[in-house]
Amino acid sequence: MIGPMPGAISLDTPVEELHSFRIARLGPTLSHKLANALAGYTHKKSSTEVTVEDLLTYFPMRYEDRSRPASIKDLQDGMEASLDLTVVHAHGYSLKAPRGYGRPQLYIFEVFATDAARSGRDVIVWWFVSGRRAYEIVKYYTERLVRGTRFITFGTWEWEARRSTYKLRLHKPADELEVLVTTGQPADDVSHPEQKEENVSDPSLAAIHVGRRVPVYRKLGDFNSKRVREIVHAALSSLEDKAIEETLPADLRHRTHLIGRAQALREIHFPPPEVSMDDYELSRSQAHLRMIFEDFFWIAFAIGLKRGRRIKEKKDKPLRIDKNVKDAIASVLPFKLTRAQRKVTAEIFNDMQSTAPMNRLLQGDVGSGKTIVAVIAMIAAMENDLQTALMAPTEILAEQHARNVKRLLAKTPYRVELLTGSLRPAAKRHLQNALKDGEIHACIGTQALIQEAVAFANLGLVVIDEQHRFGVMQRAELRARGLNPDVLVMTATPIPRSLAMTVYGDLDVSVIDELPPGRTPIETLVYGEDQRQEVKRLISREVKAGRQVYVVYPLVEESEKMDLKDATRRYEYLRYTVFPKLSVGLLHGKMKPAEKERVMNAFVAGETKILVSTTVIEVGVDVPNASVMIVEHAERFGLSQLHQLRGRVGRGAEKSFCILLTSDKKTATAEERLGIMAKTNNGFIIAEKDLELRGPGELLGTKQSGLPEFRIGNIVRDQPLLELARREADFYLSKEKSAVTAKMTARIRQDPRFGLAAVG
Ligand code: ADP
Ligand code: MG
Repeated sequence: MIGPMPGAISLDTPVEELHSFRIARLGPTLSHKLANALAGYTHKKSSTEVTVEDLLTYFPMRYEDRSRPASIKDLQDGMEASLDLTVVHAHGYSLKAPRGYGRPQLYIFEVFATDAARSGRDVIVWWFVSGRRAYEIVKYYTERLVRGTRFITFGTWEWEARRSTYKLRLHKPADELEVLVTTGQPADDVSHPEQKEENVSDPSLAAIHVGRRVPVYRKLGDFNSKRVREIVHAALSSLEDKAIEETLPADLRHRTHLIGRAQALREIHFPPPEVSMDDYELSRSQAHLRMIFEDFFWIAFAIGLKRGRRIKEKKDKPLRIDKNVKDAIASVLPFKLTRAQRKVTAEIFNDMQSTAPMNRLLQGDVGSGKTIVAVIAMIAAMENDLQTALMAPTEILAEQHARNVKRLLAKTPYRVELLTGSLRPAAKRHLQNALKDGEIHACIGTQALIQEAVAFANLGLVVIDEQHRFGVMQRAELRARGLNPDVLVMTATPIPRSLAMTVYGDLDVSVIDELPPGRTPIETLVYGEDQRQEVKRLISREVKAGRQVYVVYPLVEESEKMDLKDATRRYEYLRYTVFPKLSVGLLHGKMKPAEKERVMNAFVAGETKILVSTTVIEVGVDVPNASVMIVEHAERFGLSQLHQLRGRVGRGAEKSFCILLTSDKKTATAEERLGIMAKTNNGFIIAEKDLELRGPGELLGTKQSGLPEFRIGNIVRDQPLLELARREADFYLSKEKSAVTAKMTARIRQDPRFGLAAVG
């Protein structure tokens, strides 16, 4: 086979072969290392699959304008700036005398430096060096940063009165300090003593790094920002414009005013001289807009293809929802539905009456009344002689649902059963047989319902409650068993609609956007250790008034045992010491199901006044008489979790309280979270903040859902672009027969990121 022509790099060129193009001093070992580092970043299985396109989509984390560097005399306290400096003197000193033998493990490294204009006093750039090898690292820095070494550094400068000069603390010197010209050892930037000498920059490329606007990259394996810059620059120089295929159709680019792909790929790395650097910093440059759009567009297109496949699926028989069915529903309704409940019920009925299986996400804040909507859908299915299943994330919640649904349907002919993993084998077998024979109409349980070998005679509807992590998997699992039921997923993590449709893949979305009438807003208070007396007074007062109280402890997985001991000890303390006259209960996940049920029943019946619990009660539990929620170690919980916990109270007409107790050891983000909780009761605002603070992957479990990750798009920051991309993707998807759409489809199928190859 003939290899690629020298000098003709394409986007498909494997990074492992870059050395054969003789660029940026890459040898075979370094090409392999680079490919390896990129493989980790792009989630590719093997370094051989990594291409130049992957290298060029390793986007800069920020930019520096080195065409006009600041000078020392312009500095102000708190100013963020990059300076072009020359070393006067550099040294490291240890903070403590060594303990016993061996070298100290903590140093402060200081560089005294001046700028070319020698316009002001020397500034100090400093950082900590710690660890077992601290001494060697300090030695390394001292040798590299000898007098006369020129370097560029970036950060927030602070005035130090004591030494009357500006100081800059670096957190990652390898990313924040870049050596330009060295008079010391022939070596590259201060990064790591173990760095191979081969991996140094090419002096003839110095012009890439100064006197212009430059990209700054996160360290990529052994490659520091400066090396990545050189390699990307070299790759772009060897890549002709015509080798960068335009992937978006011309009419789309025209409509959306997006620049071409070749221009965008070049300019996102090296900003041209005339454009606004602010736009670059905010990811709002023309180059950014184009690359972010592209990122969103292909994912939206891929999801649309999956959705299209689903629409082609057929149910055995669409449901009939006529007057008889509606009367049957009306006869069990315990209250008048809210306008929002009626609206989403209509949407669900529409799906159920269609030949395509329903795949709908029902969003609604905690306490908005999702359960009754699910029960209505279940009755509609059962009236059509179909079986239904209701799945909850915890046994406690499954039990609560079973209790409620049994009560609601007591006067109907339908048989409702609770099927959980903790049933005795004989009882379980008995129920499974009844299910198989179609004798059970509504089966309620945990996720194990579809995971264990449960066979249904004619399953028509599956409701999944309080599940933020519903992937496409469960559906696939059902289908694999020859079932194609309607699926309704309910969640209290409300997120913007466009976002939901993107991150939840192929689900349609309904929203309950109002609470049932007669609710008084919950008052949320953030208290410290010193306010426990007030908490005690509040508990006494509320209990005396006939109300009930939750006290919740976090259960962190790594230290489950210890936390459990905490909760147990706290329970004993509350029961015997603080409130000896009140009945206090304890609930946690490690208890036997029968015990859990007994505790929960006592609380529901109002016999237990104070329930000490781990987060097993986080979701769904509904005891309207409870008016106080106390969360211990509130700083350990995420926003959505706190909101869920708070949602356990405020379910009756009486005023409720949520006390977030914190220890002193809280981080700034924890502080911010608690502040948000105190400020708002609105689940939408909270979910958006959570997205901002934690990112979508963690909040929604997209990692488990198998959704590809965005390369540069940020669904919070770039929401308008996400919406635009969705609209455009839908437009092309609707023209299924067109050549453009066919080409797009072919392209997406080849891309392993989307997992669309195997399925037709
Ligand atoms: P969530 O959406 O958090 O699952 P639930 O379905 O548990 O909320 O409902 C919360 C409470 O509100 C329950 O006690 C339920 O009986 C009550 N509820 C629901 N809908 C209405 C309504 N339309 N009018 C009055 N109360 C309602
Ligand atoms: Mg619920």
